[in-house]
Parts: sequence; structure tokens; C-alpha cells
Amino acid sequence: MHVIVIGGGISGLAAALRLSSSGASVTVLEASARLGGKLLPGDIAGSAAVDLGAESMLARRPEGVDLAREAGLADALGPPTSASAAIWSRGEMCPMPKGHVMGVPGDPEALRGLLSEEGITRIGEDASLPPTDIGEDVAIGEYVAKRLGPEVVDRLVEPLLGGVYAGDAYRISMRAAVPQLYEAARAGTSLLAGVRGLQERAPAPAAASPVFMGIEGGIGRLPGAVADACRAAGAVIRTGTPVRTVRGHVSADESSPHGRAAPARWTVVTDGGEALEADALVVAVPAPQAARLLADQAPAAARELRAVEYASMALVTMAFRRADLDHVPGGSGFLVPPVDGRTIKASTFSSNKWGWVAAQDPELFVLRTSVGRYGEEAVLEREDSELVELSLRDLAAATGLSASPVDRVVTRWSGGLPQYPVGHRARVARIRQAVEKVPGLALCGAAYDGVGIPACIASGERAARETQAPATAGSARE
Ligand SMILES: Cc1cc2nc3c(=O)[nH]c(=O)nc-3n(C[C@H](O)[C@H](O)[C@H](O)COP(=O)(O)OP(=O)(O)OC[C@H]3O[C@@H](n4cnc5c(N)ncnc54)[C@H](O)[C@@H]3O)c2cc1C
Repeated sequence: MHVIVIGGGISGLAAALRLSSSGASVTVLEASARLGGKLLPGDIAGSAAVDLGAESMLARRPEGVDLAREAGLADALGPPTSASAAIWSRGEMCPMPKGHVMGVPGDPEALRGLLSEEGITRIGEDASLPPTDIGEDVAIGEYVAKRLGPEVVDRLVEPLLGGVYAGDAYRISMRAAVPQLYEAARAGTSLLAGVRGLQERAPAPAAASPVFMGIEGGIGRLPGAVADACRAAGAVIRTGTPVRTVRGHVSADESSPHGRAAPARWTVVTDGGEALEADALVVAVPAPQAARLLADQAPAAARELRAVEYASMALVTMAFRRADLDHVPGGSGFLVPPVDGRTIKASTFSSNKWGWVAAQDPELFVLRTSVGRYGEEAVLEREDSELVELSLRDLAAATGLSASPVDRVVTRWSGGLPQYPVGHRARVARIRQAVEKVPGLALCGAAYDGVGIPACIASGERAARETQAPATAGSARE
């Protein structure tokens, strides 16, 4: 069986590894000159390795660390050296509150120092408010503001969600983004009580493993290592090969229960006009590109895919000479509530967060800021040098850092993160339903079941299973 995987980001590579290790003949076609998509290794100040895209992965679910181990990176895996983040709110640096689920506390006291007295008092009203209808889905910001007041959303939920989705809390689906909160909200009237229930069922801190993991040398090493493992299992991986069209060949004797002819073979045509044949396809590209590729083969899925929106952002990575700094900021970095009107949305102090970054050149202090989020992308029209200046201005106000960097790298991520608005899960279900009717076709990537690296890997592995399932047209494969 020959499977073509279109897209060499982490989702496509995870699918390719699963397929090639189970005996399929696999070809990965990646449009750009490099593999990895949003995982991008780079360097700064001459030679110091840094991540210029994603930089850590959730370790509370297994797929990311398991794949890294399988790809030979077990010894390079490690948790952050410093995980003490802060929130720069109303001009004050507040320690990140403990005891909350995506910003929603079990106890109002957990937010003391970050919220005003009125804000803390308002949270307490949750217990006496009548039930809030959430129906099939609700925007997390809307629901939390109704139960606990808008200040919790502005000061904590929004910056935390912004860090994951670069999105807007008043649009993001609670069901898709924080399903445990949705379930807690459905199970009872009081949100605080629901969160306390979640916290009681969570593993005890002593038994808990690290929440996040990184890779020495950068998470950006992961795609290359997975690609090497794919090649070792016999896969062919081609970069600089954009796919232009895909076409399923209708077999006369195979028709679906829906009366629709089922493709028995696929032809994939590259931008260069080369035609490749396959028994099955894994489409592992962002939703707009998937919509274009599937417009003829799965038009209903393509329509839904076209409606998936993306946020753009830029990362400004800077290296400072420590000798130039009056003081070195502590902790792993900080988030910024958008309501405060600053330019940067967050800053990560890479040299504090990752021991391997500091160890490369002890004279350097490396950090990065992120700029831009859904609905606030005008700032990205500015020149690189302006993004650096704006970042430095906010960093000076937040931390007192006043030195000039010895190097800076601006990385733009246009369409970097898919948005999961209210109704996202239903949209994904409709996409899957349409794709299931086309045997030998599977989709994976950040647009479906989670934007984080482990979720993307899980979706790649699921797509690999789907292409290998018996190609009975119209049957549900999971
Ligand atoms: C700035 C940023 C920081 C992030 N930080 C984190 C983090 O710290 N932790 C975390 O867990 N997640 C993070 N994420 C999210 C996560 O990195 C991404 O959701 C994930 O890497 C997406 O992987 P993917 O394979 O689905 O898509 P992509 O990485 O987008 O890969 C898709 C690939 O398909 C290729 N392609 C597109 N069209 C075609 C075509 N026609 N033919 C062939 N190839 C094509 C593209 O070139 C690309 O390489 C971050 C995302 C961004 C943007």
C-alpha cells in the first residue's frame, strides 16, 4: 500500500512514521524547503540555538514525549528550568495565580493581588446566581464573565487563552478549548464548585509529572528526528514539492452505499506538474490549503475547511549581553492582558526557562516577545525594526530592562494558529463525516482536535489508522 502524506509539519510526519513503521510505503510531500511547519529551529547572536516557533509541549498527555523518544530524542527531553511565570497587569508584575483551570479559579482568594477587591467579591456571587444556560457550546469568555465577572476574563482567562490560540476569549469555544470546564459547567450550577471538583480529581502534586517538556537544542529538532525515523522505516520525504491537485480515480465496481463512486486510487499532481500515484492520502496541511486540495474530491468538507479562521502573530527573539543589563529579569516570563493595550502579548525569558539556552553562552540573555492575535493583526503591518522597538518599550516598562540587544530575529507566523470559535467541534464533525465518505482519504493537523503539538501528533496518528482501515465507502472508521 502506497500512502502519500501531503504536508511535512509535525502532524504529517507523525502520520508518516506510524504508516511507515506499520509496513506501508510512504511518500511525504512538503511544499517548503524545510520540514516542521510551525516548529522552526534557528539561531541568534552567531551560534546560539533557539526555537523561532513552538518551544514547548504539554507533557500531561503522552503523544509528544512518546514521539520524541521514538525518534531518538529521549536524552534531550527535559522540563523547563524555571516555570514561574507572571502576569503584567495594570503596570504591576503579579505572580501567576495557582489553583485555576485556564484562568478559572476554584477559590476567589487564588486571584487576590491580580484582581480588584470588587473583582474578588464578584467571583463569590457565582454560588448564588441562577444556572447559566450553555447549550451545546458557549464562548469561554462569555460564560466565565456571566458566572464570575468580566475581570477574571480580562486579567487571566484572556491572556492564558491568548498564549495558546492567539485568540479572543469571547469567541473561543469552551467545549473545544477547555472541555473539562465545559463538562464541569454542564454538571452543576456553580462554576467555582465545578472547578474545585476538577481540582480534587487531579493527581496530587507529588505524583504529578512535569506539565511541559522541551528538547535540548529546541523543539524545532523534533521534525528532523521524526523524518530520520521515517526514512529509516523506508519512507521517502521530499521538500520543495507543493501539491497542486489531488484526484481520486473512480473504480467502476466500487460504489458507496450513498450511491457515490469511491476512488480506488489517487493521483497527486505537484506544482512542477509531476504526477504521483497512491492508494491513500493523508492531507496534513492547514485548513485553507486543505480546502483548495479537496474542492473537487470532498466539496462538503472543503466548504467547512474554508470557514476555519486563523490568527497571525510575530515572535521577536532578542539576545542581550548580560554585562549590559542592570539586572536580569527573573522567572520564565510573563503574559499581558490585552485589555491593558500594550503591544506585546507575552514574553518568554528563554535563558531562564531552558537550561540548555543559558548553557550555550552564559554571557547572553535570550528572550522573546509575541505580538499580534486574532482581530489585532494591524500591528503586524509594521516593519521588523518597529516590532523590535515596540517590544523593547514594553519590556522596559514591564521589567526595567533598558539595554539594546546584540541581535534580534523577527519571525512572522501568518495564519499561524487556527481559531476554535463556538461551534468548532460541530464543524470538525461535519468535516470528518464528509471525508469518511471518501475511502483512502484522511485529514490531520492543528485545525481539528487541538492546536498543541501532542494534539497534532494524535491527529496524525489517527489519520494513519484511518487510511489503513478497510476502505468501505461511507463507513465510519473510528
Ligand atoms: C508561533 C507559534 C508558537 C507555537 N508554540 C507552541 C508551543 O510552544 N507548544 C505547542 O504545543 N504548540 C505551539 N504552537 C502550535 C503548534 O506548533 C502547531 O499547531 C503545530 O505545529 C501545527 O502542526 P501541523 O503539522 O498541523 O501544521 P503545520 O506546522 O502548519 O504544517 C503543515 C505543513 O504543510 C505544508 N503545506 C501546506 N500546503 C501544502 C501543499 N499544498 N503541499 C505540500 N505541503 C503543504 C506547509 O508548508 C507546512 O510545512 C505554536 C504555533 C505557532 C504559530
